[in-house]
Amino acid sequence: MSRASEPLQPVAMTTLLTTDLIGVSRGRSFPSDELDHYTSAGCGWVPANSALTPQDLIAEPNPWGAHGDLRLIPDLASRVRVGQGPDASAAPLDFIHADIRETDGQPWAACPRTLLRDEVQRYADKLELQVNAAFEHEFNLRRAVAQPERLAFSLQAQRQGADFGGWLLAALRAAGVEPEMFLPEYGKHQYEITCRPTLGVAAADRAVNVREITREIARQLGDSVSFAPKTGEDAVCNGVHLHLSLQDLDGAPVLYDPQRPDGLSRLGRQWAAGVLKYLPALCAFTAPTPLSYARLQPHHWSASYACLGQRNREASLRICPTVSIGGKPAAPQYNLEFRALDATASPHLAMAAVLIAGRLGIQQGLTLNAITDKVPHDLSADLREARGIVALPASLPQALDCLRNCPELLQELPAPLLETYFAVKHLEVKLTEHLTPAQLCEHYAHLY
Ligand code: GLU
Ligand code: MG
Repeated sequence: MSRASEPLQPVAMTTLLTTDLIGVSRGRSFPSDELDHYTSAGCGWVPANSALTPQDLIAEPNPWGAHGDLRLIPDLASRVRVGQGPDASAAPLDFIHADIRETDGQPWAACPRTLLRDEVQRYADKLELQVNAAFEHEFNLRRAVAQPERLAFSLQAQRQGADFGGWLLAALRAAGVEPEMFLPEYGKHQYEITCRPTLGVAAADRAVNVREITREIARQLGDSVSFAPKTGEDAVCNGVHLHLSLQDLDGAPVLYDPQRPDGLSRLGRQWAAGVLKYLPALCAFTAPTPLSYARLQPHHWSASYACLGQRNREASLRICPTVSIGGKPAAPQYNLEFRALDATASPHLAMAAVLIAGRLGIQQGLTLNAITDKVPHDLSADLREARGIVALPASLPQALDCLRNCPELLQELPAPLLETYFAVKHLEVKLTEHLTPAQLCEHYAHLY
Protein backbone atom coordinates (compact mmCIF):
# COMPACT_ATOMS: atom_id res chain seq x y z
CA MET A 1 0.00 0.00 0.00
CA SER A 2 1.39 3.41 -0.85
CA ARG A 3 1.96 6.02 1.85
CA ALA A 4 -0.16 9.12 2.37
CA SER A 5 0.37 11.58 -0.42
CA GLU A 6 3.04 14.01 0.74
CA PRO A 7 4.06 16.40 -2.00
CA LEU A 8 6.90 14.90 -4.04
CA GLN A 9 10.39 16.36 -4.00
CA PRO A 10 12.53 15.74 -7.07
CA VAL A 11 15.39 13.35 -6.31
CA ALA A 12 18.82 14.98 -6.66
CA MET A 13 21.02 12.94 -9.00
CA THR A 14 24.74 12.41 -9.42
CA THR A 15 26.19 11.33 -12.77
CA LEU A 16 29.26 9.18 -13.35
CA LEU A 17 30.80 10.73 -16.42
CA THR A 18 33.19 9.61 -19.12
CA THR A 19 34.30 11.99 -21.85
CA ASP A 20 34.73 9.79 -24.88
CA LEU A 21 37.06 9.65 -27.87
CA ILE A 22 35.09 12.36 -29.71
CA GLY A 23 34.94 14.69 -26.69
CA VAL A 24 31.32 13.99 -25.77
CA SER A 25 30.55 13.54 -22.07
CA ARG A 26 28.24 10.63 -21.37
CA GLY A 27 27.27 8.67 -18.31
CA ARG A 28 24.67 7.27 -15.95
CA SER A 29 22.93 8.92 -13.01
CA PHE A 30 21.60 7.73 -9.65
CA PRO A 31 20.14 9.36 -6.51
CA SER A 32 22.92 11.40 -4.92
CA ASP A 33 22.09 10.02 -1.46
CA GLU A 34 23.06 6.55 -2.75
CA LEU A 35 26.57 7.59 -3.83
CA ASP A 36 28.19 5.25 -1.26
CA HIS A 37 26.74 2.35 -3.19
CA TYR A 38 28.68 3.37 -6.33
CA THR A 39 32.01 4.61 -5.00
CA SER A 40 34.07 1.42 -5.24
CA ALA A 41 32.52 -0.64 -8.06
CA GLY A 42 30.93 2.21 -10.02
CA CYS A 43 28.11 1.61 -12.50
CA GLY A 44 27.77 -0.32 -15.74
CA TRP A 45 28.94 0.88 -19.16
CA VAL A 46 28.98 -0.50 -22.69
CA PRO A 47 32.20 -0.82 -24.74
CA ALA A 48 30.65 -0.02 -28.12
CA ASN A 49 29.51 3.38 -26.77
CA SER A 50 33.09 4.45 -27.51
CA ALA A 51 32.46 3.85 -31.20
CA LEU A 52 29.81 6.58 -31.49
CA THR A 53 30.41 9.28 -34.08
CA PRO A 54 29.28 12.86 -33.40
CA GLN A 55 26.36 11.98 -35.69
CA ASP A 56 25.24 9.45 -33.03
CA LEU A 57 25.84 6.34 -35.13
CA ILE A 58 27.99 3.47 -33.84
CA ALA A 59 30.85 2.84 -36.27
CA GLU A 60 31.12 -0.76 -37.49
CA PRO A 61 33.23 -2.76 -37.30
CA ASN A 62 34.54 -1.90 -33.84
CA PRO A 63 36.34 -4.28 -31.48
CA TRP A 64 33.23 -5.07 -29.42
CA GLY A 65 29.98 -4.91 -31.35
CA ALA A 66 27.12 -6.00 -29.08
CA HIS A 67 29.43 -7.73 -26.58
CA GLY A 68 30.99 -6.90 -23.27
CA ASP A 69 30.43 -4.94 -20.08
CA LEU A 70 32.46 -2.33 -18.30
CA ARG A 71 32.33 -0.19 -15.16
CA LEU A 72 32.55 3.58 -14.75
CA ILE A 73 34.64 3.99 -11.60
CA PRO A 74 34.28 7.46 -10.04
CA ASP A 75 37.32 9.55 -9.18
CA LEU A 76 35.72 11.20 -6.15
CA ALA A 77 38.23 14.08 -6.04
CA SER A 78 36.95 15.19 -9.45
CA ARG A 79 33.33 15.72 -8.36
CA VAL A 80 31.61 18.82 -9.70
CA ARG A 81 28.59 20.24 -7.88
CA VAL A 82 26.94 23.44 -8.99
CA GLY A 83 23.98 24.70 -6.95
CA GLN A 84 21.04 26.77 -8.08
CA GLY A 85 21.81 28.95 -11.08
CA PRO A 86 19.76 31.37 -13.18
CA ASP A 87 16.88 28.88 -13.55
CA ALA A 88 15.70 28.13 -10.01
CA SER A 89 13.73 25.10 -11.23
CA ALA A 90 16.72 23.41 -12.87
CA ALA A 91 18.10 20.29 -11.19
CA PRO A 92 21.54 20.94 -9.64
CA LEU A 93 24.49 19.86 -11.76
CA ASP A 94 26.41 17.08 -10.01
CA PHE A 95 28.83 14.78 -11.81
CA ILE A 96 32.00 12.84 -11.12
CA HIS A 97 34.64 12.04 -13.73
CA ALA A 98 35.12 8.31 -14.04
CA ASP A 99 37.73 5.93 -15.42
CA ILE A 100 36.43 3.05 -17.50
CA ARG A 101 37.47 -0.32 -16.14
CA GLU A 102 36.77 -3.98 -16.81
CA THR A 103 34.29 -5.68 -14.45
CA ASP A 104 37.27 -7.15 -12.52
CA GLY A 105 38.69 -3.66 -12.00
CA GLN A 106 41.45 -3.85 -14.62
CA PRO A 107 41.94 -0.64 -16.64
CA TRP A 108 40.08 -0.67 -19.96
CA ALA A 109 42.38 -0.15 -22.93
CA ALA A 110 40.20 2.36 -24.79
CA CYS A 111 39.55 4.78 -21.90
CA PRO A 112 40.94 8.26 -22.78
CA ARG A 113 41.14 9.33 -19.14
CA THR A 114 43.17 6.22 -18.28
CA LEU A 115 45.45 6.92 -21.26
CA LEU A 116 46.15 10.41 -19.92
CA ARG A 117 46.57 9.17 -16.34
CA ASP A 118 49.11 6.56 -17.52
CA GLU A 119 51.03 9.14 -19.56
CA VAL A 120 51.19 11.58 -16.64
CA GLN A 121 52.52 8.71 -14.53
CA ARG A 122 55.14 7.93 -17.23
CA TYR A 123 56.33 11.56 -16.99
CA ALA A 124 56.81 11.04 -13.26
CA ASP A 125 58.39 7.58 -13.49
CA LYS A 126 60.61 7.95 -16.54
CA LEU A 127 61.36 11.68 -16.65
CA GLU A 128 60.77 12.73 -13.02
CA LEU A 129 58.47 15.46 -14.28
CA GLN A 130 55.01 16.77 -13.50
CA VAL A 131 52.69 18.30 -16.09
CA ASN A 132 50.87 21.56 -15.40
CA ALA A 133 48.22 22.57 -17.92
CA ALA A 134 45.27 24.83 -18.70
CA PHE A 135 42.84 24.88 -21.64
CA GLU A 136 41.48 28.21 -23.00
CA HIS A 137 38.15 27.94 -24.81
CA GLU A 138 36.55 30.23 -27.40
CA PHE A 139 32.87 29.87 -28.22
CA ASN A 140 29.90 31.58 -29.83
CA LEU A 141 27.03 32.74 -27.65
CA ARG A 142 23.55 33.16 -29.11
CA ARG A 143 21.27 34.92 -26.66
CA ALA A 144 17.63 33.88 -26.25
CA VAL A 145 16.67 37.30 -27.59
CA ALA A 146 18.70 37.98 -30.74
CA GLN A 147 21.32 40.69 -30.14
CA PRO A 148 22.94 43.06 -32.61
CA GLU A 149 26.55 42.43 -33.59
CA ARG A 150 29.00 44.44 -31.52
CA LEU A 151 32.59 45.41 -32.17
CA ALA A 152 35.47 43.05 -31.39
CA PHE A 153 36.71 43.12 -27.76
CA SER A 154 34.33 46.02 -27.03
CA LEU A 155 32.64 46.90 -23.77
CA GLN A 156 29.34 46.69 -25.65
CA ALA A 157 30.07 43.08 -26.59
CA GLN A 158 31.08 42.37 -22.99
CA ARG A 159 27.83 43.93 -21.72
CA GLN A 160 25.80 41.80 -24.11
CA GLY A 161 27.22 38.68 -22.47
CA ALA A 162 27.87 40.05 -18.98
CA ASP A 163 24.97 38.36 -17.18
CA PHE A 164 25.84 35.07 -18.88
CA GLY A 165 29.50 35.52 -17.98
CA GLY A 166 28.66 36.35 -14.36
CA TRP A 167 26.65 33.16 -13.90
CA LEU A 168 29.33 31.20 -15.73
CA LEU A 169 32.13 32.47 -13.49
CA ALA A 170 30.03 31.72 -10.39
CA ALA A 171 29.30 28.19 -11.55
CA LEU A 172 32.93 27.53 -12.52
CA ARG A 173 34.11 28.77 -9.14
CA ALA A 174 31.60 26.52 -7.39
CA ALA A 175 32.93 23.62 -9.47
CA GLY A 176 36.53 24.32 -8.38
CA VAL A 177 37.62 25.19 -11.91
CA GLU A 178 39.42 28.42 -10.88
CA PRO A 179 38.17 30.57 -13.77
CA GLU A 180 40.26 33.61 -14.70
CA MET A 181 38.63 35.66 -17.43
CA PHE A 182 35.44 35.93 -19.45
CA LEU A 183 36.10 38.16 -22.44
CA PRO A 184 34.58 39.21 -25.75
CA GLU A 185 36.69 37.93 -28.64
CA TYR A 186 37.39 39.08 -32.19
CA GLY A 187 34.38 37.34 -33.76
CA LYS A 188 30.72 38.31 -33.67
CA HIS A 189 29.03 36.91 -30.55
CA GLN A 190 32.33 35.20 -29.74
CA TYR A 191 33.64 34.93 -26.18
CA GLU A 192 36.53 33.26 -24.43
CA ILE A 193 36.85 31.71 -21.00
CA THR A 194 40.18 30.96 -19.37
CA CYS A 195 41.07 29.15 -16.16
CA ARG A 196 44.16 28.59 -14.03
CA PRO A 197 46.46 25.65 -14.70
CA THR A 198 46.43 22.53 -12.61
CA LEU A 199 48.43 19.32 -12.46
CA GLY A 200 47.90 16.19 -14.51
CA VAL A 201 44.55 14.61 -15.38
CA ALA A 202 42.65 17.32 -13.49
CA ALA A 203 43.62 19.80 -16.23
CA ALA A 204 41.70 17.81 -18.86
CA ASP A 205 38.81 17.30 -16.42
CA ARG A 206 38.71 21.08 -16.08
CA ALA A 207 38.37 21.47 -19.84
CA VAL A 208 35.34 19.17 -19.75
CA ASN A 209 33.94 21.11 -16.80
CA VAL A 210 34.31 24.41 -18.66
CA ARG A 211 32.46 23.05 -21.70
CA GLU A 212 29.66 21.36 -19.77
CA ILE A 213 29.11 24.20 -17.31
CA THR A 214 29.07 26.75 -20.14
CA ARG A 215 26.40 24.64 -21.88
CA GLU A 216 24.44 24.32 -18.64
CA ILE A 217 24.36 28.08 -17.98
CA ALA A 218 23.26 28.66 -21.58
CA ARG A 219 20.52 26.04 -21.22
CA GLN A 220 19.24 27.64 -18.00
CA LEU A 221 19.18 31.10 -19.56
CA GLY A 222 17.52 29.88 -22.77
CA ASP A 223 20.67 30.84 -24.73
CA SER A 224 22.76 28.55 -26.89
CA VAL A 225 26.51 28.15 -27.21
CA SER A 226 28.72 26.47 -29.74
CA PHE A 227 32.37 25.51 -29.33
CA ALA A 228 32.59 24.24 -32.93
CA PRO A 229 35.80 25.39 -34.63
CA LYS A 230 33.81 27.47 -37.13
CA THR A 231 30.12 28.25 -36.81
CA GLY A 232 29.55 29.92 -40.18
CA GLU A 233 31.46 30.41 -43.41
CA ASP A 234 32.39 33.99 -42.50
CA ALA A 235 32.74 33.39 -38.77
CA VAL A 236 35.97 33.87 -36.83
CA CYS A 237 37.15 30.44 -35.67
CA ASN A 238 36.84 29.03 -32.17
CA GLY A 239 40.11 27.57 -30.95
CA VAL A 240 41.12 25.73 -27.83
CA HIS A 241 44.61 26.60 -26.68
CA LEU A 242 46.41 24.17 -24.42
CA HIS A 243 49.00 25.84 -22.16
CA LEU A 244 51.59 23.43 -20.84
CA SER A 245 54.54 23.66 -18.52
CA LEU A 246 56.71 21.02 -16.90
CA GLN A 247 57.97 20.89 -13.34
CA ASP A 248 60.31 18.62 -11.47
CA LEU A 249 58.81 16.43 -8.75
CA ASP A 250 59.33 19.21 -6.19
CA GLY A 251 57.30 21.62 -8.29
CA ALA A 252 60.21 23.67 -9.69
CA PRO A 253 59.61 24.82 -13.30
CA VAL A 254 62.00 23.29 -15.86
CA LEU A 255 61.02 24.82 -19.21
CA TYR A 256 62.73 28.15 -18.54
CA ASP A 257 66.43 28.96 -18.94
CA PRO A 258 67.36 32.64 -18.48
CA GLN A 259 70.58 32.09 -20.49
CA ARG A 260 68.63 31.48 -23.70
CA PRO A 261 67.36 34.45 -25.73
CA ASP A 262 63.94 32.83 -26.08
CA GLY A 263 64.09 31.40 -22.54
CA LEU A 264 63.39 27.81 -23.60
CA SER A 265 65.53 25.31 -21.69
CA ARG A 266 67.36 22.36 -23.26
CA LEU A 267 64.69 20.00 -21.97
CA GLY A 268 61.96 22.33 -23.25
CA ARG A 269 63.59 22.39 -26.70
CA GLN A 270 63.62 18.60 -26.87
CA TRP A 271 60.00 18.46 -25.71
CA ALA A 272 58.90 21.07 -28.27
CA ALA A 273 60.87 19.31 -31.02
CA GLY A 274 58.96 16.11 -30.24
CA VAL A 275 55.60 17.85 -30.42
CA LEU A 276 56.54 19.47 -33.75
CA LYS A 277 57.95 16.26 -35.21
CA TYR A 278 54.72 14.37 -34.58
CA LEU A 279 52.33 17.30 -35.07
CA PRO A 280 50.92 16.25 -38.48
CA ALA A 281 49.91 12.90 -36.94
CA LEU A 282 48.78 14.50 -33.67
CA CYS A 283 46.27 16.55 -35.64
CA ALA A 284 44.20 13.37 -36.02
CA PHE A 285 43.48 13.74 -32.27
CA THR A 286 43.67 17.50 -31.74
CA ALA A 287 41.89 18.67 -34.92
CA PRO A 288 39.70 15.60 -35.22
CA THR A 289 36.72 16.56 -37.41
CA PRO A 290 36.45 17.52 -41.08
CA LEU A 291 35.53 21.03 -39.94
CA SER A 292 38.74 21.39 -37.91
CA TYR A 293 40.60 21.97 -41.19
CA ALA A 294 38.54 25.05 -42.01
CA ARG A 295 40.27 26.53 -38.96
CA LEU A 296 43.82 25.27 -39.48
CA GLN A 297 44.43 27.82 -42.23
CA PRO A 298 47.11 30.49 -42.63
CA HIS A 299 46.24 33.97 -41.30
CA HIS A 300 43.61 32.58 -38.90
CA TRP A 301 45.80 32.92 -35.79
CA SER A 302 45.39 29.20 -35.32
CA ALA A 303 48.02 26.86 -36.80
CA SER A 304 48.82 25.73 -40.32
CA TYR A 305 52.48 24.68 -40.08
CA ALA A 306 54.42 22.74 -37.50
CA CYS A 307 56.61 25.42 -35.95
CA LEU A 308 57.50 27.12 -32.70
CA GLY A 309 57.21 30.88 -32.37
CA GLN A 310 57.83 33.32 -29.58
CA ARG A 311 54.69 35.36 -28.99
CA ASN A 312 53.66 34.40 -32.55
CA ARG A 313 49.95 33.58 -32.88
CA GLU A 314 50.46 31.96 -36.27
CA ALA A 315 52.73 29.34 -34.73
CA SER A 316 51.24 25.99 -33.76
CA LEU A 317 53.38 26.03 -30.63
CA ARG A 318 53.87 29.42 -29.03
CA ILE A 319 56.22 30.55 -26.30
CA CYS A 320 53.88 32.69 -24.22
CA PRO A 321 54.96 36.07 -22.87
CA THR A 322 56.16 36.45 -19.32
CA VAL A 323 55.57 39.70 -17.43
CA SER A 324 58.38 41.32 -15.48
CA ILE A 325 56.32 44.20 -14.04
CA GLY A 326 56.73 44.40 -10.27
CA GLY A 327 59.72 42.03 -10.39
CA LYS A 328 57.60 38.94 -11.13
CA PRO A 329 59.88 35.96 -11.79
CA ALA A 330 59.71 34.50 -15.30
CA ALA A 331 60.22 30.79 -14.58
CA PRO A 332 56.83 30.04 -12.96
CA GLN A 333 54.99 31.96 -15.71
CA TYR A 334 56.87 30.42 -18.61
CA ASN A 335 54.71 28.04 -20.68
CA LEU A 336 54.15 26.74 -24.18
CA GLU A 337 50.79 27.07 -25.89
CA PHE A 338 49.63 24.33 -28.27
CA ARG A 339 47.22 25.98 -30.74
CA ALA A 340 46.38 23.22 -33.26
CA LEU A 341 43.46 22.18 -31.05
CA ASP A 342 39.71 22.69 -31.06
CA ALA A 343 36.74 21.62 -28.97
CA THR A 344 35.74 18.73 -31.22
CA ALA A 345 38.69 16.93 -29.58
CA SER A 346 38.57 14.90 -26.40
CA PRO A 347 40.63 16.93 -23.88
CA HIS A 348 42.02 13.75 -22.31
CA LEU A 349 42.96 12.10 -25.59
CA ALA A 350 44.40 15.30 -27.11
CA MET A 351 46.45 16.15 -24.01
CA ALA A 352 47.73 12.56 -23.77
CA ALA A 353 48.77 12.59 -27.44
CA VAL A 354 50.64 15.91 -27.09
CA LEU A 355 52.39 14.64 -23.96
CA ILE A 356 53.42 11.41 -25.67
CA ALA A 357 54.94 13.39 -28.56
CA GLY A 358 56.82 15.69 -26.16
CA ARG A 359 58.11 12.73 -24.14
CA LEU A 360 59.37 11.05 -27.32
CA GLY A 361 61.19 14.29 -28.14
CA ILE A 362 62.96 14.19 -24.76
CA GLN A 363 63.71 10.46 -24.95
CA GLN A 364 65.08 10.81 -28.48
CA GLY A 365 67.07 13.94 -27.51
CA LEU A 366 65.65 15.81 -30.52
CA THR A 367 67.04 19.14 -31.69
CA LEU A 368 64.68 22.00 -32.28
CA ASN A 369 64.86 23.64 -35.67
CA ALA A 370 61.28 24.51 -36.63
CA ILE A 371 61.30 28.05 -35.20
CA THR A 372 59.88 31.17 -36.77
CA ASP A 373 58.67 34.53 -35.62
CA LYS A 374 57.18 35.23 -39.04
CA VAL A 375 53.88 33.95 -40.41
CA PRO A 376 55.13 30.57 -41.64
CA HIS A 377 52.90 30.70 -44.71
CA ASP A 378 54.57 33.95 -45.83
CA LEU A 379 58.07 32.44 -45.81
CA SER A 380 59.35 31.03 -49.10
CA ALA A 381 59.00 27.28 -49.51
CA ASP A 382 62.81 27.04 -49.54
CA LEU A 383 63.13 28.89 -46.27
CA ARG A 384 60.46 26.70 -44.67
CA GLU A 385 62.27 23.61 -45.86
CA ALA A 386 65.61 24.89 -44.56
CA ARG A 387 64.02 25.51 -41.15
CA GLY A 388 62.21 22.17 -41.07
CA ILE A 389 58.77 23.79 -41.05
CA VAL A 390 56.20 21.40 -42.53
CA ALA A 391 52.58 22.11 -43.46
CA LEU A 392 49.89 20.57 -41.28
CA PRO A 393 47.41 18.19 -42.91
CA ALA A 394 44.78 19.94 -45.04
CA SER A 395 41.94 17.57 -44.15
CA LEU A 396 40.95 14.95 -41.61
CA PRO A 397 41.67 12.05 -44.01
CA GLN A 398 45.19 13.46 -44.49
CA ALA A 399 45.68 13.71 -40.73
CA LEU A 400 44.47 10.13 -40.26
CA ASP A 401 46.96 9.01 -42.93
CA CYS A 402 49.77 10.83 -41.11
CA LEU A 403 48.80 8.96 -37.94
CA ARG A 404 48.56 5.61 -39.75
CA ASN A 405 52.07 6.20 -41.12
CA CYS A 406 53.58 7.12 -37.76
CA PRO A 407 54.60 3.83 -36.09
CA GLU A 408 56.41 5.61 -33.24
CA LEU A 409 53.19 7.27 -32.10
CA LEU A 410 50.97 4.28 -32.87
CA GLN A 411 52.99 1.98 -30.66
CA GLU A 412 52.42 4.31 -27.71
CA LEU A 413 48.64 3.96 -28.00
CA PRO A 414 46.46 0.96 -27.07
CA ALA A 415 45.35 -1.04 -30.15
CA PRO A 416 41.60 -1.17 -29.28
CA LEU A 417 41.54 2.60 -28.82
CA LEU A 418 43.19 3.12 -32.20
CA GLU A 419 40.98 0.60 -33.97
CA THR A 420 37.86 2.28 -32.59
CA TYR A 421 39.15 5.75 -33.33
CA PHE A 422 39.94 5.00 -36.98
CA ALA A 423 36.50 3.36 -37.42
CA VAL A 424 34.71 6.37 -35.89
CA LYS A 425 36.62 8.92 -37.92
CA HIS A 426 36.26 6.95 -41.15
CA LEU A 427 32.47 6.86 -40.74
CA GLU A 428 32.37 10.52 -39.71
CA VAL A 429 34.21 11.51 -42.90
CA LYS A 430 31.75 9.47 -44.98
CA LEU A 431 28.73 10.97 -43.23
CA THR A 432 29.86 14.54 -43.86
CA GLU A 433 31.66 14.45 -47.21
CA HIS A 434 28.57 15.56 -49.17
CA LEU A 435 28.19 18.77 -47.13
CA THR A 436 29.15 22.16 -48.57
CA PRO A 437 31.56 24.27 -46.46
CA ALA A 438 28.59 26.28 -45.13
CA GLN A 439 26.61 23.15 -44.30
CA LEU A 440 29.63 21.65 -42.55
CA CYS A 441 29.83 24.70 -40.26
CA GLU A 442 26.13 24.50 -39.50
CA HIS A 443 26.28 20.75 -38.90
CA TYR A 444 29.07 20.92 -36.30
CA ALA A 445 27.75 24.13 -34.74
CA HIS A 446 24.82 22.05 -33.52
CA LEU A 447 26.91 19.07 -32.43
CA TYR A 448 29.53 20.91 -30.37
N1 GLU B 1 40.40 32.38 -32.73
C1 GLU B 1 41.76 31.93 -32.87
C2 GLU B 1 41.78 30.41 -33.00
O1 GLU B 1 40.96 29.90 -33.68
C3 GLU B 1 42.62 32.36 -31.70
C4 GLU B 1 42.73 33.83 -31.49
C5 GLU B 1 43.55 34.15 -30.25
O2 GLU B 1 44.77 34.12 -30.33
O3 GLU B 1 42.95 34.34 -29.19
O4 GLU B 1 42.61 29.73 -32.46
MG1 MG C 1 41.41 33.95 -27.94
